[in-house]
Amino acid sequence: MRWKRVLFSGLGIGLIYTLFIHAKTTPDLPVPLQDKPIRTIVIDAGHGGSDHGAGGRYSHEKDIALDVALKLGKILEDAMPDVKVVYTRKTDRFDDVHRKAAIANEAKGDLFISIHCNAAPPIKKIVGYKTRTYYVKKKKRTRRVNVYESHPNPAKGTETYIWATAKNAAKTESLRNNSVIVFDANSEETQAIMDAQDPETIIMLNTLRNVYFDQSVRLSTLVQDEFSRVGRIDRGARQRNEKGILVLHATAMPSVLVELGFISNPEEEEYLNSADGQNELATCIYRAVKRYKDELERVYKSGEAARPALDPAPAPASAPTVPARQVVNHIPATVSTTNETPDAPAADAENLNYKVQLMTTEKVYARTNTLFKNLKGTIEREEFKQGKKKVNKYIWGSFRTEAEAQAAVYKARKQGFSDAFMLTYKDGSRID
Ligand SMILES: [Zn+2]
Repeated sequence: MRWKRVLFSGLGIGLIYTLFIHAKTTPDLPVPLQDKPIRTIVIDAGHGGSDHGAGGRYSHEKDIALDVALKLGKILEDAMPDVKVVYTRKTDRFDDVHRKAAIANEAKGDLFISIHCNAAPPIKKIVGYKTRTYYVKKKKRTRRVNVYESHPNPAKGTETYIWATAKNAAKTESLRNNSVIVFDANSEETQAIMDAQDPETIIMLNTLRNVYFDQSVRLSTLVQDEFSRVGRIDRGARQRNEKGILVLHATAMPSVLVELGFISNPEEEEYLNSADGQNELATCIYRAVKRYKDELERVYKSGEAARPALDPAPAPASAPTVPARQVVNHIPATVSTTNETPDAPAADAENLNYKVQLMTTEKVYARTNTLFKNLKGTIEREEFKQGKKKVNKYIWGSFRTEAEAQAAVYKARKQGFSDAFMLTYKDGSRID
């Protein structure tokens, strides 16, 4: 389903921004792009195997991360049977972070949650002095030196990270790579739409990245909110410095990294290792995910409900300024009724296929006309009579799914066919 989401997002650039604008004036933020915005959640227990992560007095980050990841996964599996939970690891195993990101991408996750513990270096305190003896040219000298005692750093509390905006280009790259993987490579039209070199594709992907960024920010805020509700110290939702966190920008989905607490703080180390503490942590993250998912679904439904009142309009040239009513039409009407499996980008039900009507005109154009230069695939011309006039209908392509066709509509509009729209066929006959 992800490629579909990519396309919806891309073709619905305006839609996305519309919902942003809408979202910023209403209490809840996010952006729905499909009937079930969250189908797969990837849980990543940080570190593992030979990579212990941070250490406390008696425990390692990798073990706490795994315990909480498994507990969170169990809660999600029980409470959200419609959601598939994927783990980057379920055992004490080492995987390179690139591998972890690849697992998430292969699973076509809709959300990536990485679980870690924080640590802060011990604090040295001067507790006294001592005299040190040394020799210079065999002459004995003494010097007073400080005596230190090491104390655990009192830093405590939770933090949730999102990827650093300095890593935006890397995130877009991840989206691009993964949209291609799941794309229907057999279709000339779909390849044309999703041409990786095409500036339009880049715009789509950057837009999608911005959506994911806002969604990640939203989830990170909810996670922190849930932690503070149970009395944890909230150190905020934040971005890491330019270096970034690889799993956050190498995953082609909204992504957050939760620092459960400071393993370097003895009190928190106790909490992080206790069954009660771990259950509380997992429950907090679960509640945040639940709120996030509910919000996405709610906004999706409201977009769906609002649609019939809205007029079709050409896709906007510059997305952020588009007024709401112009774009909600890009949500395919049947999206919530398709019965595809969550993972497979299957063709739409029955013997349906889709084409794009580019324009009607009295003029006759050849396929080779420069008008159609950027539209790969077939262009059909259908003649019909309008009063006494002969008029020509130009129809582009044949698409397996509505999402592909909607993407093609977007592309056609960008090519100047401002009235382009989708046609639906069943067994070769037009049915819409
Ligand atoms: Zn870590």
